[in-house]
Formats: sequence, structure tokens, C-alpha cells
Amino acid sequence: MSAIPVNLNDILNQAEQNRAQNLRTLAVFDLDSTLFNVSTRTQKILHEFAEAHKLDHLKDVVILPEDWGLKEALFRKGYTVEKDLEMLQAIRDFWAERFFSSEYLHFDVPYPGAVCFVQDLKEAGCEINYLTGRDYVRMGKGSFEVLKKWGFPVTDENLFLKPEKSQDDELFKHDWFKKLNHSDYKKIFFFENEPVNVNAILQSCPEVEVIYLDTTHSRKQTVTAELKRIKHFGRS
Ligand SMILES: [Mg+2]
Repeated sequence: MSAIPVNLNDILNQAEQNRAQNLRTLAVFDLDSTLFNVSTRTQKILHEFAEAHKLDHLKDVVILPEDWGLKEALFRKGYTVEKDLEMLQAIRDFWAERFFSSEYLHFDVPYPGAVCFVQDLKEAGCEINYLTGRDYVRMGKGSFEVLKKWGFPVTDENLFLKPEKSQDDELFKHDWFKKLNHSDYKKIFFFENEPVNVNAILQSCPEVEVIYLDTTHSRKQTVTAELKRIKHFGRS
């Protein structure tokens, strides 16, 4: 994948220039692994499993920010499907029940510079939307609370979650962008870490400028297009 460096200040300048001409700018942010490092959520759940089952050796398993879920960290520590299948399945069930819940979203931590960048973007006149594959029923309340807690500009109108958990993330985001009236905006940015979603939007909405968050992803696809990418929102 080719990468084009991104200067986040250029995005702020574009928003300001558009506002000066009475033109609208929209920035759409994914949440998990885009604005928030979720490895701390998984680490907390793993620790609780270890406590509940008195498995102290599990407490040494470190979830890294670039891990996807639990498996990679457990395999790194020497656990295998062959000898630990029963325990791995039990952890997986315990994790899934908590990871996809409002309560545990409070253990997420925003990536460096994320809060400040989104706040500055709003100040520059850009409209902010959050578009997430989290579902409303299990994670709506916590998503709102946690955005607010960290200082992200959030209202009842700019946070979009899936109505049903069974819905496909890619389709949900694709349909959301399709319903958007693109001609209302001079410029639309989409910040996203998941290649499946990135590729879908690049394909269906080429006018949207995608900024790829090169953090972690489901390993289902890769991004082959030449596009802008960042690892966090730190600015110089
Ligand atoms: Mg994500």
C-alpha cells in the first residue's frame, strides 16, 4: 500500500477556508481503533477473567494496541488451540459478552491528539459525525457517555450506531454514506481504520476523502489504494 503523508493542520485550514466562503465541511469518524485505542478494554476483560477463574498466569498476558481482539496476545504467550481450546473458548465468550457492552467502553482511551483534533476541527467550522459499527442496543449509551467524558463534541444528532447488531458494518457505513446528500458539502472526510470499510467507501463514494488510521484491523482485507494514512492524531 502506498501512503501519502497527512498534515492534519491542512484539514483544519481547509475547513476554515470553506467556512469563510459559507461552504460546509463534514468529518466522519469511526470510533474503535480510529479515535479510541480499545486494547485497554480487552486488557481489563482478560484481567477480570483471570480473577474470576483464579488463573494468575493469564494476568501476564499483555494486549498490545496493535492486537486485534484476544487471540494474538494469547498465542504470543504460548497458549495454543491444541492444548488450551476449552479455556480459549471460555475466554472468548467472556470477552464477547463484555467487549460489546456500554459498560466496558469506559476502559477505552483516545489516541494521542484525537480529542484536541476533533475539537479544533469543530472550532474551524467543520461538522462532526461519528459513524460506528457498534450497535445501538448494547453500546449506544456507553458510546455517548464516553465521547462526552473525554471531551469529544457529541450530541443526540451526530452519533450513528447500527440499529441491529446482526447488521454488517460495511453495509451499514456504505448505506449511510449513500443516504448523505454529498452536494451539501464542499468537502467530506472519513477517518477509518478497517480496510473492509475503507475499500467499500473508496469504491462507492470516490468524492469522499478517506484518511486511513493505520492502527489495527480485522485482517480480512488490506488497503491497496494510494491514500492518506496516520497512526494517531498528534500534530507538530
Ligand atoms: Mg474501527
